[in-house]
Amino acid sequence: MRPLLFAANWKMQVTPGETRRFAEQFLGATAPVDGRSLWFFPSAVSMASAADAFGGRADIQIGAQDVHWEPKGAFTGATSIPLARGAGASGALVGHSERRHVFGETDVETGRKVRALLDAGLTAFLCVGEKLEEREAGETEAVVLRQLRAGLAGVAAEGMRRVVVAYEPVWAIGTGRNATAEDAARVHAALRAELSNLGATDRVPVLYGGSVNLGNARGLLAQPEIDGVLVGGASLDPDGWAEIVGIGG
Ligand code: PEP
Repeated sequence: MRPLLFAANWKMQVTPGETRRFAEQFLGATAPVDGRSLWFFPSAVSMASAADAFGGRADIQIGAQDVHWEPKGAFTGATSIPLARGAGASGALVGHSERRHVFGETDVETGRKVRALLDAGLTAFLCVGEKLEEREAGETEAVVLRQLRAGLAGVAAEGMRRVVVAYEPVWAIGTGRNATAEDAARVHAALRAELSNLGATDRVPVLYGGSVNLGNARGLLAQPEIDGVLVGGASLDPDGWAEIVGIGG
């Protein structure tokens, strides 16, 4: 089985107590598998509980859903990288479509966050994806490659080793619609070619996200271009999520 990465984005859900109950059930239903990495992205409030509850399993890592690029300061409501690390995070999502399109985060800001994470020795999960109108205008590749270049501006080959890219078409997130496996694989191939232009020497994992569920995950993961999945809704049920990660072995 080739290496696969399964990432759960819990968004603004799952309290610390629910996190502990989830972990108990999920850990009982799964065992570590060679080459399969599992990441959980709880809300900042539940990060420490997640780190504690999943802490015994070396195949599981915790990440923040967002971080600020400044290490400290007057940024009410934001989570710095030292705060996230202190709560047990070893990486973070950057530029998730809800950060870009609900909170107005720019390409330049995503680049700052990626660099700050890499400088701190953490893993950056850079999310890219086109809106429906961009897809319909035939701009998918142009949009995701622009987001990729901006997100990775100033990142050297060494830093690329701690980068994960997630292709998440905006129109597919939380909507029940998703790209066909072949469509997604085409975009992944374009992203991979650009990653190598940008100086990545090792294979940077490129995940797919957007209404992934048990019914479509196997087909997506059968594509050699797709190195894993980033999942919102279908990661909220411990048994259902255990079944999905079971595709990885
Ligand atoms: C996400 O939150 O990144 C996501 C892909 O959500 P969903 O799986 O619910 O579409």
